[in-house]
This record gives sequence, structure tokens and C-alpha cells, in this order.
Amino acid sequence: MTQRGLLRLLALGVLVLILLLAWQLGRSYADAIENATDDAGNLVSALDAQLTATLRRVESNLHNIAAQLPAVAPVRAGAPVRRRMAQPVLRRFSDNFPEVNGFFVWSRDGELLASSEATDPGPIRIDHRPGFLELRAEPEAQITFSDSIRSRIYAQDTVAVYVPVRNARGGLDAVVTSTLNIDRITRSFESLQLPQGSVIFMRRSDNHKLVLRYPYVEREINKPVRNAIQQRIDQGIVAGRDRFQAVTDGEWRLYGFRKLQGYPYYVVVGLAQRSALANWHRNARYLVGGVVLLGVAMLFLLWQMARLERQRAQAQREAGRAQDLLREAIDSLSAGIVVYDEQDRLIAYNEAMRQLYAGFSDVIVPGRTFEEITRAGAQRGSFTAAIGRTEAWLAERMQQHRAADGVPYEQELADGRWVQFTEHRTPAGHTVGTRIDITERKQLENELRDQATTDALTGLPNRRHFLARLDEEVERVRRRTTQQACVLMMDLDHFKRINDQFGHAAGDSLLRHFAQLLAEELRSTDTCGRMGGEEFAVILPGTDVKAAEVLARRICSRLAGVPLRIGTQQVYVTVSMGIAAIDPADLTADTVLSRADGALYQAKEAGRNRVAVAT
Ligand code: GH3
Ligand code: MG
Ligand code: MG
Repeated sequence: MTQRGLLRLLALGVLVLILLLAWQLGRSYADAIENATDDAGNLVSALDAQLTATLRRVESNLHNIAAQLPAVAPVRAGAPVRRRMAQPVLRRFSDNFPEVNGFFVWSRDGELLASSEATDPGPIRIDHRPGFLELRAEPEAQITFSDSIRSRIYAQDTVAVYVPVRNARGGLDAVVTSTLNIDRITRSFESLQLPQGSVIFMRRSDNHKLVLRYPYVEREINKPVRNAIQQRIDQGIVAGRDRFQAVTDGEWRLYGFRKLQGYPYYVVVGLAQRSALANWHRNARYLVGGVVLLGVAMLFLLWQMARLERQRAQAQREAGRAQDLLREAIDSLSAGIVVYDEQDRLIAYNEAMRQLYAGFSDVIVPGRTFEEITRAGAQRGSFTAAIGRTEAWLAERMQQHRAADGVPYEQELADGRWVQFTEHRTPAGHTVGTRIDITERKQLENELRDQATTDALTGLPNRRHFLARLDEEVERVRRRTTQQACVLMMDLDHFKRINDQFGHAAGDSLLRHFAQLLAEELRSTDTCGRMGGEEFAVILPGTDVKAAEVLARRICSRLAGVPLRIGTQQVYVTVSMGIAAIDPADLTADTVLSRADGALYQAKEAGRNRVAVAT
């Protein structure tokens, strides 16, 4: 996979992770809201049970007291004795009931008849109180409640509960009341340890006035409210949940509400959303922080990778340039360069290599082994030495190649060129070879060799070369590997005159003419040499003196018979010869030559243009 692809995948992975986290966050948000709303609902049920139980107990206590009237209290005014007697009875009721402040009995006119309090509060009346007036006005009314009252006696928020004592005709005989200690109930909610910002309300379901608020806020007591819960209570819904922002303090809360059964109240629990979601907020912060960190790390990683990628690309470009340069340099070399790997497969070569071995350059391709390439060359006849003995030559060539000893070898190609090759092994096991075209050098060498052994004017072996050949022949006769051999010494007659008369160039052409004539008359096994000036000598192997004489005479007469053309003139030239047989007793060429020389002298003496034989 490419680096770019990897990066894409990584980015995609992070994106998926972020989406997953966001989804999870959203789900946990909904869960937190749901759970908190459940909590509010559960709490409101518990509070409903508690408050309903308290109200029932107050009501049943009031009915109990009413049932005992007038035994425990006078139902008519003006009976102070009975009032004192009633106080301990009422006191017992209130002592066992901490949520109420006291029990009171009132006359049908609203005048206090008896109370659970030890001290006499003096003349108090309730005939102006709505709860009392309602009982008197409505014969059906069984229980009424006051608004929240700041009690003068107890300096507390209280709610008065009124229960009528009726006669058989339904007329009001008396009223029994109690004061519910709202402060105490409110304080008891502290043990609930609600999250900060949460609230508990108890409101009247008929006019929505606030009876109880936890935490306590005095100015809100007895204030009605207009909100979603109030509307639903008015619609007759007895329990439910809601979530809205409070108008009074702007706090978002999750609400549960429940109407108290049998009493004109409903209780509301509002859990502050920010407290309920505190955990969620913390987790979300961690999560977002983590994602941001991850993002930063990711960006850093991307940046690093991009930087590395740029560096790599730069290095690659530079390496590419260096390689091109090297390639160019190698290709510009006149020497062929070739590299084989450890398996002897071609891995590198240059242009000169292909040009040198043009006859099989099609197989000089990477991957081919040295043997395959060389065999192809041999089979196509590119190597002179391999012609007619391909396998044997290949075996030698392979041996050299395996040795790769750095020693230069020379190789003749069938097209006449010469190649010097050198091979050596690198420490890594590669075989590096160079192939140099040495054709020119070879030609020069040949020329030099020819110049050393040949007379430039006539093309015949020179004196030195001739003497070396004669030494060999003398040696052969001495060892009797050959039966007989003769030496012929020749000197052109009056050559000086030719020079003098026609010029040096004419003399030269005469020398060439004679050399040509000799070449035509002699056998391939005979060796002819120019001994200097106008002197020539011939070795006649396997030839006796008689045969040598016949040959010598034939040469003499042929030269004498064919005139040399010099300009417009025809010049007749003659030659004198001396023959000496090589004797097994001869130690060197000189002894034979001097005998032949002697014979030549005799021939000159005798009048020239003749042959003399050494005795
Ligand atoms: P003889 O019949 O006694 O041999 O007389 P000759 O004139 O041939 O003998 P001599 O040795 O006096 O003369 C040889 C001459 O050959 C002398 C020299 O100038 C000439 N000569 C030697 N080498 C060359 C050569 O390479 N070219 C030419 N043109 N002349 C040469
Ligand atoms: Mg001479
Ligand atoms: Mg001469």
C-alpha cells in the first residue's frame, strides 16, 4: 500500500472514530436526560406518598378530635373551664405529630374554644379566614386548606387545615383545625441531597399558588405560576414529566409532577439539568479533549509523513540524477563494461559493450547468464578461436571467467577486430569485466614485427631474419633431421652502373624486379632474404647441389633474358651466384655463407652472369 493510501485510511479511521464518539455522546446525552427525568419521576412519587400520608394523618386526627366533641371541648363559647380541660387532650395529638404545630377547636362563629397550646393566646377569631368561610358556606365541604400563612405564633410558614363538625341537619357546630408546619417538611427535604439547582414545589391544584418551595424562597410563597405543568394539571392530568427553562431563575430542569390524591395539591420535582448532566459534560469534555489531541497528533503525523515523503522524493530525484550521470559516463566510455551478479546473470553493461559484440548484441540483455551470451557469440562464429571447436573453446572461456583473476586476455573476433578483456570479482561476488578494442594496437604490433624481419624495399626477409632461418636449417642438417640443403648467394652484376646511369630509383626498381623474379622461381619452403645492397641469398632445404645449380642457372638466364624497362629504355641485367651445400660439420650460418660467398667471388672472377659451386 502506498503512503498516500495509508494516510487516507488513517484519516478515514479517525473520522469514523470521531463520528462514533459523537454518536455515542449523543446517545449518552439522551440517556442522561432520560435517567435524570426518571429520577425526578421517582422522587416525585416518593414525595407524593410522604405528603399524602402526612395530610391523611392530619385529616384523620382532626376527624378523631371532631368525633370526641363535645366531650373534649366545649362547642359553645364562654366555657373556660372546659377549655383548660381540653388542652391536654389536644396536646397529646400534637405531641405525637411533629409535622403539625397544634390542634385547635373553634366555635361555629369562628371563636377559639380550645387549643393544644399551653399558653392562652387570648381571643382569636377565624371567621374571616377563607377556609372557615368555605366550610360555613358549603355544607358539602369536608376539609379546606388555607394559603401559606406566616404564623404569628410560630414565626413559620404554615398551612391551616379545617375540618367541620356538623350537626344532623348539616349545620356547622364547630370547626377543628391544625397548622401544618411547612418549614419542617421543607427542611426534611435536605436529607434528599438533591443536585445543585434542583427544586421541589408543592402547589395548590385549584389556583396554583406555591405552598412549599425547597430551597425556600420567601417571596415566591403563595405566588401562582403559569407553565406547562400548570396547564397539564388544569387539563386533569395527574402525573407526568417535562423539561423546560424556569422563568424565575432561567435554570433548565427535568421535571416530574404528581397530583396528590384526595387533596388539592400537586408536587413537582425539578432536577437541574446541568447537575444531572455534570458527568456527561465531564465525559464529553474528556472526549472532545481526546479527539482534539488525537487530531493534533494526527496532523503532526501527517506533517511528519509528508516531510519524510518530500525528503524521500528529493533523495530519489538526486539518486536518479546521479544514476543518469553515471550511466552517461559509462556509456561514453570507449571500453565495454559488463557486470554479472553472483548467479552470473547480466545486471549491467554499457553501449560500447553492445557495439563491440554487435554480432550477438541481441542476447546481451539483463538476466542472461555469461555462458548463454558467450555460447550465442561462439555459435554465431563471432570468436575466431571458437570456430570449429565451440565446446572446447567455451570450456576454456568459462574457466577464465570463473577465475576472474584480473589478468588481461586477448581475443580475436571473426570480423578481424581484437578485444582485450579483463575480469575480476568484487567483494560482493559480482563479476566486473572490461572489454577494450585493441585492433589498432594489434595492427601496429604486426607492422612492427614485419618491419623487424622484412626488408622494406623488396618485402623479402632481411639479413637478420634470413640468418636466423639459416641457423635453424644448419641446426637441422647438423642433427641430420634433414638430409641435405643448399645456400645460394647472389649479387647483381655492375649494379653501380645502373645507379649511376639511371638514378637510385631505377636501381631500387631493379632490386624489386629481381626480388619478384626470385619469389616466382622459388618454392614456398625456400627462404629468400636480402642480405644488403644488391646481394640476395636463398636457403634451399632438401635440395642437393645439382638441383641448386639447375635452379640458379634458370634464375640467371631468366634475369638476363627479360630486360628491365626504365623509362623508354630497356636495360639488361645479369646476376652472379655462388652455391654452397650445408655440411653437418657446419657450426653456424656464417661458415656456410662464407663458402657460398667464396663461390660467388669465383663466379664474378670468371666473368659474371654465371653460377659457381663451392668445393
Ligand atoms: P660487381 O659486378 O662487381 O658486383 O659491381 P657492382 O657495381 O655491382 O658492385 P659494387 O659493390 O661496387 O656496387 C654496389 C652498389 O650498389 C653500390 C651502392 O651504391 C649500390 N647500392 C647498394 N644498396 C642499394 C640500394 O638499396 N639501392 C640502390 N639503388 N643502390 C644500392
Ligand atoms: Mg655487391
Ligand atoms: Mg654487384
